[in-house]
Amino acid sequence: MYNEFGIKKELLNLASEVEKEIKVQFEDIEEICEYNSLKVLNAFRENNISDMHFNQTTGYGYGDIGRNTIEKVFAKVLGAEDALVRSQFISGTHALTVSLFAFLRPGDTFLSITGKPYDTLDSVIGIEENESSLKAFGIKYEQIDLINNEFDKESIINRVKTGNVKLIEIQRSRGYANRNSIQIEQVEDIIKEIRKVNKEVIIMIDNCYCEFVGKIEPLEVGADVIVGSLIKNLGGGIAPNGAYIAGRKDLVELSAQRLTVPGQGKEVGPSLGMNKLLLQGLFFAPSVVASSLKTAVFASRMLEKLGYNPSPKYNEKRADIVQTIAFGEKESLIKYCQGIQMGSPVDASSIPEPWDMPGYQDQVIMASGAFTQGSSIELSCDAPIRPPYIAFMQGGLTYEYGKLGVLKAISNMK
Ligand SMILES: *Cc1c(COP(=O)(O)O)cnc(C)c1O
Repeated sequence: MYNEFGIKKELLNLASEVEKEIKVQFEDIEEICEYNSLKVLNAFRENNISDMHFNQTTGYGYGDIGRNTIEKVFAKVLGAEDALVRSQFISGTHALTVSLFAFLRPGDTFLSITGKPYDTLDSVIGIEENESSLKAFGIKYEQIDLINNEFDKESIINRVKTGNVKLIEIQRSRGYANRNSIQIEQVEDIIKEIRKVNKEVIIMIDNCYCEFVGKIEPLEVGADVIVGSLIKNLGGGIAPNGAYIAGRKDLVELSAQRLTVPGQGKEVGPSLGMNKLLLQGLFFAPSVVASSLKTAVFASRMLEKLGYNPSPKYNEKRADIVQTIAFGEKESLIKYCQGIQMGSPVDASSIPEPWDMPGYQDQVIMASGAFTQGSSIELSCDAPIRPPYIAFMQGGLTYEYGKLGVLKAISNMK
């Protein structure tokens, strides 16, 4: 069967060897998974989740007990005062956009302290001209780059001391940048420093890909608000779409007024049959994140042994589920991505090619044979076509499927 799938004996032998080497990492991942599962279970118990919460509302969505309770469960799990968890968010980018437009007013300054934010925010901020950008509404943007994967503390403190920065964004995951992801300890440290000189500035975290990777979430170390997608970690591969904003009550309320209607906020928004799926997704999320992490660790060690340059290395501490592999040339990168597609359960016979995707500056290749379109908590691999030709791989609903996908990709490349 392995032969028929296109994996040769030597590769399987290498995989067995690698699995022995990564046992310690797997044990750590399992321990974190159990801890986060307990967090979820406690939140379900505390909120008395029952059958009635699986019901739906339609139309305006007044009095949706399921939706309201889901938001309490998410808040509890994330250490938030309140949360907005909605399928009316069409993506993580949309939730980030809603929160930025909710918090910022004309004349305000928005400061990113992890360098340039995720590519899809270029048009939102106005880095890429757009007549509906924050810039078009008179909101100023500044950024401070990381230095050797650390916050540029001096520049950040000097800038926020002046008091006219309204919002700071920290993007933990690396996006399409060639840098490390931001550890929770780094977030904690910089927030402490910022708070010494500025109590007012809103500290917002783009938490995409980071939930449940560790035991502590950013709100627990002083962040004001966090944002993430439900077709990533917290959707557990089951949520069919949506995103969340969680944190300080006033900020969640402002976000709700922007997402729906001033004056209506959280009170409206029909759940349209999604409630059970969102709850089930969250329930599975710790384990699905663990499977994604195991897949990433396995891929990292395999590709390192084969002479490529993965980051993080298999034994490095992770802050997100993303595994990058620098291929150095275009052909291997494309073949690897195409192999990930071949090893997927859906659309396995489609062959992804680089294309001009909306919201991205370079051509992008995206491999994702997922049950939910574009879901990247399911095994997926994407890459902007630019040197040094780095693939960004993430996801894996189960470790077994993740491993098989990675083996298929390696076979396709060699
Ligand atoms: C995925 C991602 C986003 C955007 O999420 P979408 O749901 O794809 O719009 C934003 N920031 C980071 C770091 C991401 O990984």
